[in-house]
Amino acid sequence: MKILLSVLLIAIFTNAIAQKKQVCITVDDLPTVPYALQSKDHDLEITQKLIDTFTKNSIPAIGYVNERKLYPNGKLNQSKVELLELWLENGLEFGNHTYSHLNYHKVTFQEFTEDIIKGEKVTKKLAKKYNTKVKYFRHPYLRSGLDKEHTDSLKKFLAENNYTEAPVTIDNEDYLFAKAYSMAYKNQDSELMKRIGENYIDYMEEKLIFYENMSTNLFGRNIAQTLLVHASLLNAHYMDELVEMFQKHQYEFVSQETVLTDTAYQEEVTKFGDWGISWLDRWALSKGKRGDFFKGDPVTPEFILEMNK
Ligand SMILES: [Zn+2]
Repeated sequence: MKILLSVLLIAIFTNAIAQKKQVCITVDDLPTVPYALQSKDHDLEITQKLIDTFTKNSIPAIGYVNERKLYPNGKLNQSKVELLELWLENGLEFGNHTYSHLNYHKVTFQEFTEDIIKGEKVTKKLAKKYNTKVKYFRHPYLRSGLDKEHTDSLKKFLAENNYTEAPVTIDNEDYLFAKAYSMAYKNQDSELMKRIGENYIDYMEEKLIFYENMSTNLFGRNIAQTLLVHASLLNAHYMDELVEMFQKHQYEFVSQETVLTDTAYQEEVTKFGDWGISWLDRWALSKGKRGDFFKGDPVTPEFILEMNK
């Protein structure tokens, strides 16, 4: 009887683990997005707070770097490099996000690919020091090609240079909240900061549910999701809450490598446009979904849009 009960409990426990949903947290525009608040202390606060939340919760987050930000006055700034070292010291990894955050749809193929190579100089050296590699690429503005030929030529270039593309499934406007939050911070308006932060978490929860539903409607299951956020003060201050929100929805946090093992990411994109949308949207469009399939996408609150004007 005791054995039977143990077997039953193990079965229930295993099932609970198997049903855990997965998300990879990807942080773009490293080392930081400071808006109007440029200072060494501010950079460190953003970096340290993000890292604290990730390490405390054993989250294998990845940061996508724009190396141009390491040269604020045209020469390599050591304290900016140290911010990146903090990520690596804590076991987190980097991806390439181009040197200067170029839009692939607006520059020549040569300009874009040169910017990718220029953007790996410091990070590759640092990664080597910490026995890790820079293996992933995130398209700035999620612009990955205007048509099939344009997309394929970039894919080929990335593969030849040992990069794997890192699609985003939970796309959102965190940067609009973040800019508003930084303005409120600058004005020392703690009430407004709180209002923005709380609205941000609610909005991100709505986005999560929206993309979960889209995934279920498209694949018949909730795929391993990839969240895009930026290295802003808002995310530094609210990463704990964001993590709790995902935990409330039964998520476990996985690495960039693990998330890409979900077969959904092999789904072919056959519809193209000048857009920077979620890959779930791209897969849906490619499978012929139109109109109503995309309805209900949560919108950014009016007061946040007003503050961004
Ligand atoms: Zn970016």
